[in-house]
Amino acid sequence: MQKIFDTPLYPYHRSPDQDAPASQRHPVVIIGAGPVGLAAAIDLAQQDVPVVVLDENDKVSFGSRAICFSQRTLEIVDRMGGAGPMLEKGVLWDAGRVFFGDRQIYDFNLLPDADHKHPAFINLQQYYLENYLVDRVREIEAAGKPIELRGRNKLAAIGEHDRHVRLEIDTPEGPYNLEAEWLIACDGANSPARRMLGLDFVGRVFEDNFLIADTIMEADFPTERWFWFDPPFNRGQSALLHKQPDNVWRIDFQLGWDIDRGEELKEANIRRRLHAMLGENAKFDLEWCSIYTFQCRRMAAFRQGRVLFAGDSAHQVSPFGARGANSGIQDADNLAWKLQLVLNGTAPETLMDTYSTERVYAADENIRHSTRSTDFITPKSETSRAFRDAVLDLAEHHEFARPLVNSGRLSEPSVYDGSRLNGPDCADLPASLRVGAAAMDAPVAGGWLLDRLGGGFRLLAIDQDLPTAPDFGAVEVGVVELSAVDWPEFRQRYLGAARSALYLIRPDQHVAARWLGFDANAVRAALETAMATATAQKGTT
Ligand SMILES: Cc1cc2nc3c(=O)[nH]c(=O)nc-3n(C[C@H](O)[C@H](O)[C@H](O)COP(=O)(O)OP(=O)(O)OC[C@H]3O[C@@H](n4cnc5c(N)ncnc54)[C@H](O)[C@@H]3O)c2cc1C
Repeated sequence: MQKIFDTPLYPYHRSPDQDAPASQRHPVVIIGAGPVGLAAAIDLAQQDVPVVVLDENDKVSFGSRAICFSQRTLEIVDRMGGAGPMLEKGVLWDAGRVFFGDRQIYDFNLLPDADHKHPAFINLQQYYLENYLVDRVREIEAAGKPIELRGRNKLAAIGEHDRHVRLEIDTPEGPYNLEAEWLIACDGANSPARRMLGLDFVGRVFEDNFLIADTIMEADFPTERWFWFDPPFNRGQSALLHKQPDNVWRIDFQLGWDIDRGEELKEANIRRRLHAMLGENAKFDLEWCSIYTFQCRRMAAFRQGRVLFAGDSAHQVSPFGARGANSGIQDADNLAWKLQLVLNGTAPETLMDTYSTERVYAADENIRHSTRSTDFITPKSETSRAFRDAVLDLAEHHEFARPLVNSGRLSEPSVYDGSRLNGPDCADLPASLRVGAAAMDAPVAGGWLLDRLGGGFRLLAIDQDLPTAPDFGAVEVGVVELSAVDWPEFRQRYLGAARSALYLIRPDQHVAARWLGFDANAVRAALETAMATATAQKGTT
């Protein structure tokens, strides 16, 4: 494993751009080869949008960061062709337990709905995810897709222009300039791009510290998420246990605000904490220890002219709920198809404003959940603590109190309610798949529904007779005709009590519109709405 941290995965090579007589212009430049930058790059290149990714580093990120990746992330990365190694290496889990003091108060299962291709969550170290995404970059590059990853290329300055962005890049062989029609800033929480453009965050900083101890041990705890409120081994605070691949266990101890970081990070003190939790005779090695604090905040808008912010550069949350990288990958999912349509002239530039509005909406939802979890875990007053403890006591014996227990509501995709890209909805179809929701997977003839949908606009016709080769105008729409008759989960999720339905699905697999019956004009109009061409023609932005 040491090798992953140490080996340059995308070492510096001199690029012809460095020797060009004038700055070369690229359609898309991405700053940052973290999970979000890599996901955006793969998605764009697979749609034949030429993309250059620059990172000041040339290796996967060091140390312990994200470990929980959600079903939606697996579905998105699967659409990009890269989920196989994640599933092979990751630890699958969908169950958890909650403890209060010295007793278990209840357990839960995140995915009571069977029949999804992917589990509710996997645990996988972030460095593995980044490694697999770089492998995927190499695979599609070898297959002729226009993608280039440049290590040790550090963004040093940005100049904004009407129709492009000018970049100054530092390399081990000196600086050079580049131009980008669009810049995607995936350069992390301290985003130099954000700083260079003089932009900032709105939101809250939390006064708390958490110790991560990634511990290597052979242990027979089940592969579940265990969360303790006020445990005997960490009185007045909380703790979390999660299994990762390679027999690494993520153990988080809440420490409080007023701590001596140097003391807390001494190996003897960390070992003392771990023995108190795992028992005096427990045998373990420490893979990684660090103390983190966090903020719940976002930029006011994720688009600034020709610069789009995605992932931690745009928004940050507490780690409770695993919403950081998961929501960043959903940013990439939302952004790539829109940028492709804008770059090829099918959609107006204003479509990129909806990247900002839809993902700001999602970020607010994530920040809300994450803030509530944090406030529940760390009550800010005696009254809040009394309420929290009463909820925990009740939850032990009463099912109704369990939804009130908040140890981190786990990441789920946002439903883009109210988005101006949404077309008509139909109240006779299940509300869980309303317009704006991410399509849900289900077993269907020939495999899984999301595999059948893939990318691109799709018209999903369920038990409908369609005319042959309907014409939908400027954009290609793949028609997926399926019967739900022999597929009860598919029927329940997509039809409910209805006999048939039509779903218009966006390239990021969110529902754009749905009807009970086919009308080519209605589909064409919904497509125009989904691409923001309808409003552009009317002169609205
Ligand atoms: C303790 C902890 C636990 C977490 N657990 C989870 C979890 O379970 N699930 C989850 O979804 N999320 C989790 N997260 C959050 C997750 O780690 C982040 O959300 C994720 O890394 C964001 O990815 P990113 O690609 O936006 O940014 P980063 O991963 O930060 O990548 C930014 C990239 O930009 C590059 N860069 C920076 N400056 C420059 C420059 N000037 N020029 C060129 N390149 C530059 C960096 O080298 C880096 O490669 C956790 C975070 C922490 C700290």
